Amino acid sequence: MSNVQEQIRDRVRALLADGTVSYFIGWGATRFEDKTMPIFVTKPEDADKLVWNKYCINGTAKYLLDDRYPDGKIGILARGCDTRAINRMIKDKQAVRENLYIIGLPCDGKENKVCEGCQHKNPLVYDEIIGELVEDKKNPERFKDIIEFEALTPDERYEYWAVQYDKCIHCYACRNACPACSCKECYADQAREAWDGKQNNRNSNQVYGLTRVYHVGDRCIECGECERVCPMGLPIMRQTKKMLKDIEDLFGEYECGLSAEDEHVLGEFDLSDRDEFM
Ligand code: SF4
Ligand code: SF4
Repeated sequence: MSNVQEQIRDRVRALLADGTVSYFIGWGATRFEDKTMPIFVTKPEDADKLVWNKYCINGTAKYLLDDRYPDGKIGILARGCDTRAINRMIKDKQAVRENLYIIGLPCDGKENKVCEGCQHKNPLVYDEIIGELVEDKKNPERFKDIIEFEALTPDERYEYWAVQYDKCIHCYACRNACPACSCKECYADQAREAWDGKQNNRNSNQVYGLTRVYHVGDRCIECGECERVCPMGLPIMRQTKKMLKDIEDLFGEYECGLSAEDEHVLGEFDLSDRDEFM
């Protein structure tokens, strides 16, 4: 058992016992050695169910959206990516900082492809940190695959995505796992207006996929959860990263969730904004 894991359990046990938090969100073991799952710990004696290892992959912040107006504080274990999501939720008024007790966990990467390009391995907002800080590095290849993709012709790009979206089964797992998808009611679930067709065909699937990307907009924290959970293996991070690259091309260096005071690139209006498209 790692020392950090022991410290996490000790602190969670104490915070539940003294009433600082009403429950804690973290990771627990599964029957598979190489898998963990998000768990909610409500009793001090259950703190030993928490684990911290290289398989703690699922984002924890998404679950805050299920309890936006909690009775008492919610405790949460949060890596750099989770804290970026929390910052953005606070900025978007989807979470209240005072309602959270955040145990920040420096993270040098998990058994997860997306961690290789992570630029924020240390927690950005926290009440306490457990573990040693790790070195953050810029990823010079952050947009490498997007630049390569942009070199294709429009027809080639269309054909690529047409083939991909033919595989989509409209399950909404990408939306459900995304910490930036914070609407209480998603347009895709509005059957009456039928904005999103329920049939499974190329057009309907593409409309859903594109709408999802534009709705996430500048809120994507590049956690990769959307792509990781897609049962059909669609490379949908390519779409969100294309959006982020376009934002950087238009507005300069940008990453969301680095602080809860960050300005929204797409959600703020200023008279000095570039407006050549008007
Ligand atoms: S990487 Fe995917 S899941 Fe994560 S914030 Fe961006 S769109 Fe949402
Ligand atoms: S998770 Fe994959 S299959 Fe499911 S809706 Fe999203 S893109 Fe389609």
